[in-house]
Amino acid sequence: MTDLRRLALVAMLISPPAAAAPLVIAHRGASGYLPEHTLPAKAMAHAQGADFVEQDVVLSRDDVPVVLHDIHLDAISDVADLHPGRARGDGRYYVVDFTLEELRGLRLCERRDPKTGRQVFPGRFPADTGTFRIATLEEELDLLEGLARSTGRRVGVYPEIKQPSWHRREGHDIAPIVVDVLRRRGLDSKEAACFIQCFEADELVRLRADLAWRGRLVLLLGGSPQDVDDPLLAAGELAELARVVDGIGPPLGRVIGADGRPTPLVTAAHAAGLVVHPYTFRVDQLPPFATSADDALRRLFLDAGVDGLFSDFPDVCVRWLERQGNPGCRPD
Ligand code: CA
Repeated sequence: MTDLRRLALVAMLISPPAAAAPLVIAHRGASGYLPEHTLPAKAMAHAQGADFVEQDVVLSRDDVPVVLHDIHLDAISDVADLHPGRARGDGRYYVVDFTLEELRGLRLCERRDPKTGRQVFPGRFPADTGTFRIATLEEELDLLEGLARSTGRRVGVYPEIKQPSWHRREGHDIAPIVVDVLRRRGLDSKEAACFIQCFEADELVRLRADLAWRGRLVLLLGGSPQDVDDPLLAAGELAELARVVDGIGPPLGRVIGADGRPTPLVTAAHAAGLVVHPYTFRVDQLPPFATSADDALRRLFLDAGVDGLFSDFPDVCVRWLERQGNPGCRPD
């Protein structure tokens, strides 16, 4: 070993690279307090100290990217009252059937079960109250840019490309449209405070290979709670994934098992060079492995060692991390 290499090795042993502070990712904004994906919910997430704010993105009929969680409108808006007769055969109202101008006329509200009309989270913002409107992706990014200037604190953005295969079958290609918006804002690099997320691995491969996206990518994982049988733990799976993406977004139950102990997933992902950002921590819907919000956060951040966490309650995560003496990561 050369002296130079020996020196480098000694320096590394003396001062191992500090682990980055876990990221608090505001899931659909501060959606525990205000209707999801409304600009007020995003402003509140910024004010509560979230590191990143999530945007789920779907396309309007005229191919404008708008920030909504579902391809449907009926659970979170008054579309059925304003546009009777515009539902499809399945009784649902689809975002892609409405122009941006039509979408702008809808009132957004706290999420209801479309079958029963009841609020999904009864203790949250009252669903019959408010004058909230749909925002385009551009409008939300403008809001966050404006807040970065007025407060001096920039939050990162975490857009999810929703159901790209479904969009394609409907004659709309969502990924290039979202990438174009993000590129024009200078977010196409690993250094930018931006992660693109998607449940469809093929679309992430396409983003990297065909659309030449250079920024960070996260593969979202579905599935019910799993433990040692997690298929991602098969030999070479995570290493293969790491050739395309920078991280994974599993449900909480794939990170902490039913016994309350970490599954092997985070350790294995870290060994492959992937970050792990599980979803979703909710104070009003605790995971089955936790006895309290603090208990859930301790198991996720300390026991499992996740690198970030999607939460409807970013303030609760920020405060918990601060109590651990961790000021949180500032994306810039
Ligand atoms: Ca999402």
